[in-house]
Amino acid sequence: MPARLARRWLKHKPIFSFLLNSISSVSCIHSVNGKESLEEYKEKRDFSATPEPTGKLGERNSEPIFVIQKHDARNLHYDLRLESEGVLKSWAVPKGPSMDTKVKRLAVPTEDHPMAYADFEGVIPEGHYGAGTVLIWDSGTFQNTKGKDASFAENLKEGHATIRISGSKLVGKFALIRTKRGGKRPQWLFFKMKDEYSMPGSDITVEYPNSSKTGRSLSEVTEQEAPVDLGDFE
Ligand code: MN
Repeated sequence: MPARLARRWLKHKPIFSFLLNSISSVSCIHSVNGKESLEEYKEKRDFSATPEPTGKLGERNSEPIFVIQKHDARNLHYDLRLESEGVLKSWAVPKGPSMDTKVKRLAVPTEDHPMAYADFEGVIPEGHYGAGTVLIWDSGTFQNTKGKDASFAENLKEGHATIRISGSKLVGKFALIRTKRGGKRPQWLFFKMKDEYSMPGSDITVEYPNSSKTGRSLSEVTEQEAPVDLGDFE
């Protein structure tokens, strides 16, 4: 490259890099995969009737977020959601998480949820998908223990992810492993890995039953967020 061109290139390089970075992050947010992955979420819900967020792709966070929602639907369960490629990858964990390394909890994949779902605490009305009360049992960020360059999305595809969670209840290393059991809906195991935070013999869902966001219990959320019954005003 002639010297004059080289100088010009050096002068404009920061602008080019900035543009290139913006283009690549925008295309990640609007990835075709992400769009398709929220279709099931949208199909199952009537957004004129449920207070749940609509299915929009989210911004990428500098550190990926996680949320565990306690959901008093037909059966009480916990929904584990982990950010990956602009959506929340989701699993229903019937018995909830444990800080005891000996307790391995069944986790069944459910449809991807939009990023905004991480802030949802409320009541899904009777007769709608997932009807019942939802509270934010724990939330925060996580890191892939396989390193910054490892792809969490790839790890999930391979059925083997290990993460370091920074929540207000859950802290430290956890594993999420796909087993060979289950047909259409493969069964995963979610469990605490040994570290300085593991708590043998503990049952954290019993010790801390309430919302980590508002401190409310399931019945308090139900009372305060219940859809208004128009019959009351007649
Ligand atoms: Mn649920």
